[in-house]
Amino acid sequence: MKTVLDIPDLKNKKVLLRVDFDMPVRSLGEGGCATEITESFRIKKQKVMIDWLVERGAKVVMITHLHEDDSSFSNLIPQLHILLGREVVFIKNIEDIEGHLANYPGVGLLDNIRNPAVAGSGEKENDKGLALSLSKGFDIYINNNFAVCHRDHASVSAITEFLPSFAGLLVQEETVQLRKAIYASKLGKIIIIGGAKTETKVSVIKNFVDKAEKILLGGVVANDVLKEKGQDMGSSVVDENSKELLAGLDLDSSQLLIPEDFVVFDNKILDIGEKTIKRYADAIGGASMVIWNGPMGLFENSAFAMGTQKIAEAIVESKAYKIVGGGDTIAAVSKFKIFDKFSAEGGSASGGNFVSTGGGAMLAFLAGEKLPGLEALGYYKSAQ
Ligand code: ADP
Ligand code: MG
Repeated sequence: MKTVLDIPDLKNKKVLLRVDFDMPVRSLGEGGCATEITESFRIKKQKVMIDWLVERGAKVVMITHLHEDDSSFSNLIPQLHILLGREVVFIKNIEDIEGHLANYPGVGLLDNIRNPAVAGSGEKENDKGLALSLSKGFDIYINNNFAVCHRDHASVSAITEFLPSFAGLLVQEETVQLRKAIYASKLGKIIIIGGAKTETKVSVIKNFVDKAEKILLGGVVANDVLKEKGQDMGSSVVDENSKELLAGLDLDSSQLLIPEDFVVFDNKILDIGEKTIKRYADAIGGASMVIWNGPMGLFENSAFAMGTQKIAEAIVESKAYKIVGGGDTIAAVSKFKIFDKFSAEGGSASGGNFVSTGGGAMLAFLAGEKLPGLEALGYYKSAQ
């Protein structure tokens, strides 16, 4: 995979940069501090790439999507100015890119690429016509948005057919770190999977059966396993298709750790219990690598946050190499005010830590799937 480090000269090069500014659109103040940290962490990762390109004399136009297809960045620009520490020129629609490049008043941001008023409806269809129009006037395309790499979208995949294309610093970093998660020696490696969407997690569990020493389960994922093992789940959240989802997984394997006690409210399992916390913390304490995705319980409610918090703290205290990801997992560690202990800057020099910006993309990568966005950058062809 070619990365930005392979570009010999960026001076005056017109760069189309795929970034990740997919922040929840909400009135400020709502959502609380955890959400803000989660957002600014991802945007700061983009700042590194933007600054790097600007320092080298590149002319940069950024493209990204927002969670809601019809929302716009028009009101979010002041917030971006602060987070990026620089002015960003708002580009209303794809037709206005040409003018921006001609005058080049500074780093530009095209409005939400998924918004039909900005770029038609081709983004999610991986439309070549849209990719061609996007490429006009640019010398280089850089993808710095790992979190979208599991999507076959025009500004991620098709665009690479029209411009010399490179992985940005973040995409490179994510692939290096997540490869470590997969390929590091099985001995001493544990993976913790919790959270709610079993269908997005079970392929990761299956992929790690022969790659991790232990697999620790929590959240709804554990509920599904308990249900399939015949436990009465009361009104706990479980997946309807748990039988199909878990097919092929040896639920009695000693490698698989499942909760033995719980915090129950209203006949619902909402957190792991003290014995389970202790058993999991012991396993974490002896690990050389810990990979974690998915809260252990309904952590948003303080009454059911203990399991997730204790597991997070056990990971922080361990000497293991830590790789953590998932939107809600990151929100949880932010809520517990220990986010910095997971991020590379706060990590111990010997251990090395990594917080992934990819939710679905991270899970797809860890499941061993081919990500279309990485494939478009030649990731699977090269030695990586
Ligand atoms: P991530 O975004 O980190 O990948 P998920 O989106 O899979 O995590 O799941 C997070 C959600 O799972 C949280 O909102 C949490 O409240 C919920 N959850 C965890 N355990 C339970 C449980 N036992 N019952 C209901 N919801 C749970
Ligand atoms: Mg989530």
